Amino acid sequence: MLRKPFIAGNWKMNMTAESGAKLIEELKPLVKDANCDVALCVPAILIPAMVKAAAGSNIKIGAENVHWAASGAFTGEISAEMLKEYGVEYVIIGHSERRQYFGETDETVNKRLTAALAAGLKPIVCVGETLSERESGETEKVLYRQLAEGLKGVEDIKKIVIAYEPVWAIGTGKTATDEQAQETIAYIRKTLGELFCPKCAEKVIIQYGGSMNAGNCKGLMAQPDIDGGLIGGASLKLDFAKIVNFDK
Ligand code: PEP
Repeated sequence: MLRKPFIAGNWKMNMTAESGAKLIEELKPLVKDANCDVALCVPAILIPAMVKAAAGSNIKIGAENVHWAASGAFTGEISAEMLKEYGVEYVIIGHSERRQYFGETDETVNKRLTAALAAGLKPIVCVGETLSERESGETEKVLYRQLAEGLKGVEDIKKIVIAYEPVWAIGTGKTATDEQAQETIAYIRKTLGELFCPKCAEKVIIQYGGSMNAGNCKGLMAQPDIDGGLIGGASLKLDFAKIVNFDK
């Protein structure tokens, strides 16, 4: 298999230690025979409890953000080493909500990515256009910039997961069609080939994200360049297991 599918959840600012651990306990038997890699990215304060809940299973725990500095005067931030210390494997970087509400830029994405890779975390870098960018025909230009700037200096592109998340499809119930998602993700792969090397780009896992659910995951996952999903709302319930088992 050239690329092993990868389904990851993004809990955003949802769940408690109790409800999160309960969901993981219920998910464990449902996803144990998955043919894909499985992760749940959870709020930072829930990480220790969720790592404990997922222990011994095929569910890996991820964080939703990471700071670029190793330590220092950055009130409220969490470093890559701190995440590693608590058993975190993945980290989402540059989610559109962070770009939209918290001033995330391609430059800060790049700094976070550099720190995450140095610490041995597996980054899930989010890219995607807004509705107005798509409607004005700027999708490729925006994605090119996010990839070129956000991934600057990366030595081994295969260590990074890309999540293509059209901003207009996140939490809106509007999914990109299978064809739209495939076409855009194929563009992302071609661009990675140009920026890095075509052979390496063939090995990069590229997820689709944006209102992916148990009903539409099969069609999306059947597309040749779509290797997985980053799942928001549907990762807060048992439906997540249906997405993980998209091939059954
Ligand atoms: C996300 O937050 O990354 C996401 C894709 O959310 P949703 O699935 O709810 O659209």
